[in-house]
Amino acid sequence: MSVPEKKIRAIAWDLDGTLVYFNIDFIQARKNVIEVFTENGVDPSGLSIQKPIIENVNIGKEKLKELKISEKKEKKILKKVEKSIIKLEAQAAENARIVDGIKEILEFCHQKQLRQVIYTLNTNLIAKNTLKKVKILKYFDFIVGRDDLSNPKPHKDHLIYICNKLNLSNKELLIIGDNSRDIEGANNMGAPSIGILTIRYSEKGLKGANFIIEQNKIAQDLKKAIKTFL
Ligand SMILES: [Mg+2]
Repeated sequence: MSVPEKKIRAIAWDLDGTLVYFNIDFIQARKNVIEVFTENGVDPSGLSIQKPIIENVNIGKEKLKELKISEKKEKKILKKVEKSIIKLEAQAAENARIVDGIKEILEFCHQKQLRQVIYTLNTNLIAKNTLKKVKILKYFDFIVGRDDLSNPKPHKDHLIYICNKLNLSNKELLIIGDNSRDIEGANNMGAPSIGILTIRYSEKGLKGANFIIEQNKIAQDLKKAIKTFL
């Protein structure tokens, strides 16, 4: 825990696991990605259902380059990979549930005139449909998904993009997320952050966050933590 340096003017929210429970079938998504790559001649070593989707995609991309196929063919395969993920994400969006206590926090931040944006590894459209489904879309100025830029989180480009769009300095944007990538992204650009501790990820990955809040205590503790940045 550390004392914030400057007042914040906006919050970048992670989506899955922070605002909503997304229930994507991760294992199936990983299987699909691996299948598309291997069907197209990619050497399967290194690809694994134990690794996150994005890691499999990145490994597959590198291996695709080794095949020395045309750029057009490469693009076509990557599109197929993307499609196989989006199909599952769309199903998950349909079944998304809001995290308990979150709506009140979003309303509080809105009352405090903070700008709120979505900082997600989902696609922009899936994120939008999910927010619509759980009826909180109105709280957000905009969404920055993985398809909106070339280097998504934990790369700092994702947050720099958000700061530029809001015309803010890095200290004026608070990042809230449940995954190490969220906090790493904040650390990478020197922005304050709050880690949400869930059963999905360990506390270790949230290192560097100004506060760590247990998800089942969001209603009581998250507002208190945000207030220290105002
Ligand atoms: Mg998350």
